[in-house]
Amino acid sequence: MTEAAYDTDNIFAKILRGEIPSHRVYEDDAVIAFMDVMPQGPGHTLVVPKAPSRNLLDADPSIFGHLLSAVQKVALAVKKAFGADGVTVMQFNEPASGQTVYHLHVHVIPRFDGIPLKPHTGEMEKPEILVGNAEKIRTALKN
Ligand code: 5GP
Repeated sequence: MTEAAYDTDNIFAKILRGEIPSHRVYEDDAVIAFMDVMPQGPGHTLVVPKAPSRNLLDADPSIFGHLLSAVQKVALAVKKAFGADGVTVMQFNEPASGQTVYHLHVHVIPRFDGIPLKPHTGEMEKPEILVGNAEKIRTALKN
């Protein structure tokens, strides 16, 4: 099946252009990272390359090295920030896989022994909680 083209008005493209707000924790020339508004656990962060692609399948492979380095940086920071036992890294491609926003992104979620993930795109988190969690991650990234 032919996949749809990249939509420049997807929600993450708008976040990248600063047209809608996000709780950013990290940014460099090629990547931003911000809090997921419907976290599957405390500290659920999305790492998003600035280069436009729907997902992994149509991305330029030259971005993957830097993207994965940024994922590692954020994974180490969320683990430290929340005192987590582990970190789940997830990435979905096309609706059949569970993808709901069509700009490539990687989920980074702190994990705690015996605590399951909440549902994907479940409840909206309170903004004040996201503000606090973002601050914890930014602090961990500095140290
Ligand atoms: P996907 O299902 O495409 O892998 O993941 C999209 C993620 O984006 C979901 O986990 C969802 O909670 C999150 N999300 C959806 N809309 C917004 C938004 O407007 N802002 C932020 N920060 N996250 C969003």
